[in-house]
Amino acid sequence: MSFKSLGLAESLVKAVDVQGYDSPTPIQKKAIPLVLEGKDVLASAQTGTGKTAGFTLPMLQRLAKQNSKRRRPVRGLVLTPTRELAAQVHQNVMDYSKFLDLKSTVIFGGVSQNPQVSSLRKGIDILIATPGRLLDLNNQGLLSLKQVEILVLDEADRMLDMGFLRDIKKIMTLIPQKRQTLLFSATFSKDIRKLAKEFMHHPVSVESTPENTTVEAIQQQVYRVAKAKKTGLLVKLIKDGNWEQVLVFTRTKHGANKLVKKLGAAQISAVPIHGNKSQTARTNALKGFKSGQIKVLVATDIASRGLDIPLLPQVVNFELPNVSEDYVHRIGRTGRAGANGQAVSLVSADETKFLSDIEKLIGFKIKKDIIEGFEPDPNASTEPFNPQKQRQSRNRFNKPKPNARRSKT
Ligand code: AMP
Repeated sequence: MSFKSLGLAESLVKAVDVQGYDSPTPIQKKAIPLVLEGKDVLASAQTGTGKTAGFTLPMLQRLAKQNSKRRRPVRGLVLTPTRELAAQVHQNVMDYSKFLDLKSTVIFGGVSQNPQVSSLRKGIDILIATPGRLLDLNNQGLLSLKQVEILVLDEADRMLDMGFLRDIKKIMTLIPQKRQTLLFSATFSKDIRKLAKEFMHHPVSVESTPENTTVEAIQQQVYRVAKAKKTGLLVKLIKDGNWEQVLVFTRTKHGANKLVKKLGAAQISAVPIHGNKSQTARTNALKGFKSGQIKVLVATDIASRGLDIPLLPQVVNFELPNVSEDYVHRIGRTGRAGANGQAVSLVSADETKFLSDIEKLIGFKIKKDIIEGFEPDPNASTEPFNPQKQRQSRNRFNKPKPNARRSKT
């Protein structure tokens, strides 16, 4: 199937061609015709499925139809949870609108608002924004959302996890009720369904390839190891395997910083990427990683969401996440677009429960090995590392229980 057969105009097919995409991904095949028809779409898709093009291409086509060149009020609005994702969606919008007369810009917090305000002043057809900065500029009277025709909520589950529900509700009061709404989310919790019911008009549900299929396509490996030997094992794996580009997940920001220091001491270039880092630091870290100057990016779950690093060969769980769904998100960073990927998890005794929860969710047992010199500690307790914190974080983020299967509708 071609992009053209989905109903996309020549200028968009050409832009997709420039990107080197041969054929649409499953989510693109399903979402593009529906969005072109003007339907509200509720899509279950995670990063790596091609979801961004799934909503961007048809949105551009619809907005290009009636272009009010002179004033350019914001007609397309994309909300994203993080600044990184906002910047990446904007890059996609620019790539795909190359041959169209549409202008776009991106706004997010953590940086000066002045350049953002001046680009808004010039007139913008499509705005990509994080909720906080959007409301901030709106409150200052620096932008109007009264002409929005298409609203996209990207990674809606993460927006709720990060506490943006109130902001989203406020934004809904600023844009016309008569509009097209597209909601993309990796998971469909009760809150997401409520949001969809409240703000969407007869939405059509679509989903990408079942997540477990994606998971199975990735080569997964567990190494059982003593907690104190994890860094040594990671260094060995990177050096022995000549790994050039590794994304490593830790549970905490502090853990990320600590690991970066230890890797540095072992002559492995690494940088942390988490919420405490400035926007410039995060952008530079990502740039260095993409260009190959930096071998290891050490990330926490929230900071890593939406990072666009195509064809990532290795993902390492330095610590398993305490919410099983995050495991699926993490390893989804590898094996994209048909490329082979490997996901390695370093599991100490206190993570045994997390591992079995993950295996329940993905529906199969992950291959387990022990590497000589890095054996697990036979005396270590198998009690979860900090059950109280685990409970708190689940409540705070409204996550389903770790052993609950993810709903697919
Ligand atoms: P996304 O899920 O939107 O984050 O996209 C993941 C990656 O897949 C990005 O690097 C896109 O450039 C790429 N991509 C999107 N659509 C296609 C396609 N049809 N064929 C190949 N790669 C694609």
